[in-house]
Amino acid sequence: MEKVVIIGGGYAGIYALRELVKNKNIKITLIDKNTYHNLQPEVYDLIANKSNIADVTIDLTTLCLGIDHDYLEYKNLIVRNIDTNEKKIYTEEQEIVTYDYLIVAAGTRTFFPPSIPGLNDAHDIKKLQWAMYFKQSFENQLFKKIQDEAKQCEDTNIVVVGAGLSGVEIAAEMAYNSKKFFKRGNFSCDNLKISLISSADTILPGLNRDLINISHKRLKSLGINVITNTKLTQMDEHYAYLSNGTKIVNSFLIFTGGVESSKIKGLDDFSHNQRGQLIVNEYLQTTNDKNIFAIGDIAEIKNQNGELMPPNVTIARCSGICAGKNVLRQINGKELISCKPKLEGILIALGGEYAAGDIYGMFTVKGKIAYEIKKYVFNSYRKPLLKLIKNGYQKLQKLKRAS
Ligand SMILES: Cc1cc2nc3c(=O)[nH]c(=O)nc-3n(C[C@H](O)[C@H](O)[C@H](O)COP(=O)(O)OP(=O)(O)OC[C@H]3O[C@@H](n4cnc5c(N)ncnc54)[C@H](O)[C@@H]3O)c2cc1C
Repeated sequence: MEKVVIIGGGYAGIYALRELVKNKNIKITLIDKNTYHNLQPEVYDLIANKSNIADVTIDLTTLCLGIDHDYLEYKNLIVRNIDTNEKKIYTEEQEIVTYDYLIVAAGTRTFFPPSIPGLNDAHDIKKLQWAMYFKQSFENQLFKKIQDEAKQCEDTNIVVVGAGLSGVEIAAEMAYNSKKFFKRGNFSCDNLKISLISSADTILPGLNRDLINISHKRLKSLGINVITNTKLTQMDEHYAYLSNGTKIVNSFLIFTGGVESSKIKGLDDFSHNQRGQLIVNEYLQTTNDKNIFAIGDIAEIKNQNGELMPPNVTIARCSGICAGKNVLRQINGKELISCKPKLEGILIALGGEYAAGDIYGMFTVKGKIAYEIKKYVFNSYRKPLLKLIKNGYQKLQKLKRAS
């Protein structure tokens, strides 16, 4: 029986898995260092206290249990090294997993420029434990304001570094929710301030001008202090130091300033681009080994015109589905199909029931309608997974009752 291993149960890995399980006669192993699939694009809601941990995670054990396949297993392991000659995966936990076909879907991690003293993974938005910490810190800051009410009511500052999609969404949601909180309780000490730092001359660099303008206006109306053309140069317990010579007292800082590809030994001599992404052909096979596929953020994925696709959920989905199909086709000796990624647009949550979006590059939407579209897109991804974990959970309960 052919053995297929997926490294990474993120968006790309899960889409690949859902294709692979259509063949009931192969052994499939999903490996992830976390016990859950992290719904990263929804983490801004978690931090701003609008949702909880169950809303931004999909349990991988119950997910795999909920899928009807006799030879599917999930392993909670950290992959350290791959011996591509022996087709063996070595893990931190000393377990060795063998494969015939491998799909690498290990995504990216936050890049902390070593030139910024004080910055480290305690400011990492991609790690759920830190997102939880930010959520608690945010709630604590709000509580502190109430405690301060009868005293001097000093400014409280939260600093978000990086004004790409995630930085903008987090800052907007925190600002919106703190405003709502102060209004609801009629609290007088409501001077919680959020600063958003962009090293570029605008927020959301690279996006279309309409989206930038709508978002900028919305952030301003939420009272966010947007600082452009400025870098974080240093931070310590009390201050964030900026390249414009100023410093901001900071209660906590979230860094969303950049990412780099996850590193796995054994693949370091495979062809990479400058961002560290693995080079793949149109079938998503790595150029060094036709039995190893790479998908999602960790791969350099191009459309049919040869244009580089940005790392996002649409591309993770398209590449995951295509690689899953191609592994099955390769096993069955069929011709492989090309991955034809297309960008469907972009939707940015801007606090509360307000969003802005660019749909298929054809028109711009804003306000509640954009928010509803974004909600629909998230739900359509999440719904089938929720059905599977519900299935898996029921199976687990039955097994518990039987034992
Ligand atoms: C805060 C935030 C907001 C975002 N908002 C949006 C948005 O609104 N729209 C959008 O389209 N995109 C958004 N993105 C980007 C989107 O989340 C990514 O493009 C998407 O997650 C990529 O999927 P992936 O499967 O390639 O990687 P990931 O989802 O990152 O999954 C990689 C998986 O690999 C696992 N892994 C990594 N290394 C190892 C190892 N050595 N051993 C075992 N397991 C390993 C990880 O635990 C993880 O589960 C956002 C990202 C962030 C961080």
